[in-house]
Amino acid sequence: MAANSPFDCVLLDLDDTLYPGNTGIGPALKCNIDEFLQAKLGVSAERAAAMRVELFRSHGSSLAGLIALGYDVHPDEYHSYVHGRLPYDRIAADPQLARLLQSIPQRKVLFTNSDRAHMKRALERLGVDEAVFDAVVCFETMNPHLFGEAGEEGRAAGGDPPAVVLKPSVDAIVAGLRAAGTNPRRTLFLDDSERNIAAGKALGLRTALVGKRVRSKDADYALESIGALRRVIPEIWGAAAAAGEGSERPDRGIDKMPMRSDLDSIIRPTSIQA
Ligand SMILES: [Mg+2]
Repeated sequence: MAANSPFDCVLLDLDDTLYPGNTGIGPALKCNIDEFLQAKLGVSAERAAAMRVELFRSHGSSLAGLIALGYDVHPDEYHSYVHGRLPYDRIAADPQLARLLQSIPQRKVLFTNSDRAHMKRALERLGVDEAVFDAVVCFETMNPHLFGEAGEEGRAAGGDPPAVVLKPSVDAIVAGLRAAGTNPRRTLFLDDSERNIAAGKALGLRTALVGKRVRSKDADYALESIGALRRVIPEIWGAAAAAGEGSERPDRGIDKMPMRSDLDSIIRPTSIQA
């Protein structure tokens, strides 16, 4: 553990956080979801796109929305359709990322809404060994009740559709916190979604918005890419590292970074509406 670091654990999102948001994976994902909705519900392309946006807004994801509305969709069926056909070759190997993750002295938890198969393929493309993480929180670990005997029994029993647990819900953030195993205020949460960052902040996490030049209201830090982590949050590596960084750039303290209200116009809209 780094001496005098304010953090005991780092929670890291995967998609558009550990790799850039401009790979084309996001738009391909939307396309696949639209095709899934068309095939499953027999709706037009236009209607499918509108439904995807609405389900994301109201339920956090299209899958969660479909299940909440009572459609019989197994998560594996959905994920193999919308994630299984993604252009993974657009995720480039990132040896610097692998080294950066290895250098983080704290407990590291990968915290993603994506399914395990997608997580493994994305990490493989990046050249990051899953074992660098002390724990993984993903769709399957947040939603054990949708799988196996529990899932079968739930479907057979009828009644209310099961809840799907995904960031930014409180239950999902709590799952991340459990995996972190420490005080939220000593846990650093990195994510590219402002909604997720806001949910983490509400439960006491220290937050870093990735892929943006300026902080959102609920972000303690903003970094344009994960590659800037050591420069923007040197205190991960301890007080000595932070002091060294600080002396080189005395006018670039975190609190002097521009807030969203000042620079709203240069924030790009959130890219993924899965
Ligand atoms: Mg993400």
